Amino acid sequence: MKAYFAESALLPTGWADNVLFEVAQDGLIAKAEPGSAVAGAERLRGAVIPGMPNLHSHAFQRAMAGLTEKGGPQGDSFWSWRKLMYGFLENLGPDDVEAIATQLYIEMLRAGYTCVAEFHYLHHDPLGRPYNNPAETGGRIASAARTAGIGLTLLPVFYAHGNFGGIAPTGGQRRFINSIDGFGRVLEALAGAVKEDPAQRIGVAPHSLRAVTPEELRAVIAQLEHIDARAPIHIHAAEQQQEVDDCLGWSGTRPVAWLLDQAQTDARWCIVHATHMDANETISLARSGAVAGLCPTTEGDLGDGFFNAASYLRAGGRIGIGGDSHAAVDPFLELRLFEYGQRLKLERRNVLAFAIGDSLGGQLYRSACAGGAQALGQNVGQLAPGFRADWVVLNSDDPALAEQSGDGLLDAAIFGPVRAPVRDVMVAGQWQVRDGVHAQGEASLKRYRSVMKRLLN
Ligand SMILES: [Zn+2]
Repeated sequence: MKAYFAESALLPTGWADNVLFEVAQDGLIAKAEPGSAVAGAERLRGAVIPGMPNLHSHAFQRAMAGLTEKGGPQGDSFWSWRKLMYGFLENLGPDDVEAIATQLYIEMLRAGYTCVAEFHYLHHDPLGRPYNNPAETGGRIASAARTAGIGLTLLPVFYAHGNFGGIAPTGGQRRFINSIDGFGRVLEALAGAVKEDPAQRIGVAPHSLRAVTPEELRAVIAQLEHIDARAPIHIHAAEQQQEVDDCLGWSGTRPVAWLLDQAQTDARWCIVHATHMDANETISLARSGAVAGLCPTTEGDLGDGFFNAASYLRAGGRIGIGGDSHAAVDPFLELRLFEYGQRLKLERRNVLAFAIGDSLGGQLYRSACAGGAQALGQNVGQLAPGFRADWVVLNSDDPALAEQSGDGLLDAAIFGPVRAPVRDVMVAGQWQVRDGVHAQGEASLKRYRSVMKRLLN
């Protein structure tokens, strides 16, 4: 048992002073007691908040961030970006995937994310042939997470088609494509690869209704339930208007409505993006208990559109945030952009603060922690006994946080001119970042640079 003392900490009941934490050998919080004395405990060097789960990541896309911002010949869109992304994949091998993911996960920890859901679809070699080991690339993700020391929910992606109605995939998609049987082998191998690590768990990600038929969706969920009946299910839906139009043409129903009706979407599900919903879908998704996986910087980067945030949250909808393509690696920035999108759309301020005097930063941070933890299916997101000791010590030396306390710290970290809000980061009772530095940071950066040198030359 190790003891830590925080002058100020965000507990499930609110901000508390003089909190004594005890963390057991298994990395779980055994005690979180306000009004305590420091006694022999290690004194934490700032206010303590739960670490943020990152509920949507495609790790390899970190290496593409910033490379696709040049004007194209005919008006760039999500779909032209996707074409560039497929080209980038041609040169990525398993070692590259591991080096990029390790670097990304270290960046995530330094930014205050303590666990990540990896939506992993790069299964095969560049010619589309399965590797001898079905866990080849997914295993590299698990090992990158272990090297970095970040919690992981690994979501192997089932991907079979190029568009609605079971259309054949394109050549650019050959590294993602599996039959149901082939996918079963990948899923089982990866479930084995994460089993021994208590900070890792398996789930599944049917890619989207574009890439998966209704029969395949049922089959993949049955495969997952055979391994773990409570494991999370993530799917991309309604990111682009074109996808909504194609779904209407295919089924007569919008994508989120289709999922709610046909797949009985519930609290095990995370609907990633859910950008384009009508009023009924918004309320129904909110009531379903599923989490809407918002990725504000990526959605901005790709020109996706605006999520119906106010009516969704008023109806009790659950949200979490994801880095997705990693145009930014910063939970505070994601939350700022989420609210700013609503302000720009509605020409108002504090759109998502529903009660007078409510701290918007505090409310957004708590909601995204709770929704993220649910979407990852991990016992994180709260500083309370039985939860994993995943926490962030805020950096009171950052001028934007100076003289702030309680929810004022979160308002400043999300909406202020903050540079480095995070000082120290713990995952499962182990320090991973001290004074903004990660022990593997230098070695990882060296490897990452050499991968990038090869990819870009
Ligand atoms: Zn995605």
